[in-house]
Amino acid sequence: MQLIFMGPPGAGKGTQAQILAALWKIPHISTGDILRACVVAKTALGLQAKAYMDAGELVPDQLLMDIVQERMNQPDASAGWILDGFPRTVAQAAFFDKLLCDVGVEGSTSGKDCDLRAVNLDVPDNVLVTRLLSRGRQDDNEETIRRRLQVYREQTEPLIEFYSAREQLVAVDGDRDMGLVTAELQQALSGDS
Ligand code: AMP
Repeated sequence: MQLIFMGPPGAGKGTQAQILAALWKIPHISTGDILRACVVAKTALGLQAKAYMDAGELVPDQLLMDIVQERMNQPDASAGWILDGFPRTVAQAAFFDKLLCDVGVEGSTSGKDCDLRAVNLDVPDNVLVTRLLSRGRQDDNEETIRRRLQVYREQTEPLIEFYSAREQLVAVDGDRDMGLVTAELQQALSGDS
């Protein structure tokens, strides 16, 4: 099971990814969580990333590529994973395709053949803003939220077309009760592993 969870901030991808990863016993890899841990630990990476995160901007691609490459090489990632919050740009998606092929994922001589699926959770903007404001994370103030949504529409939303064109997209309505979304995801994604 190799899954990418996409969707705007506040769509519930972290929550759903966590539930399904526990169910399927595969790691939930959140680049936002990794970055936040680096910020708390004040590592060189964390110090570099903090200003971008606080402003609602994307952290530069190269830093994310290094993080993901290192994480994918850890033993627990060999049997599958759910990636939450990566890729977020077309450059990251292209890099990731190459990485999957390099690590010898079954049948992945071209991105098209990878056993990869990209889940998009669709939620309207007004619902997202309300959800994010009630979450209370450090980067969840109204100005940053608006910027994160704008960055999502500009830089991340094009990935929906990228994965759709390769018939790897699974689109789910995320504006529903959490349990219903989980059930639909389980149904749409199970059946192969
Ligand atoms: P998240 O927890 O996924 O909402 O991520 C929180 C913040 O971390 C984002 O607003 C970005 O600043 C940064 N971030 C996380 N993942 C990425 C990524 N794939 N590319 C660039 N920045 C990222």
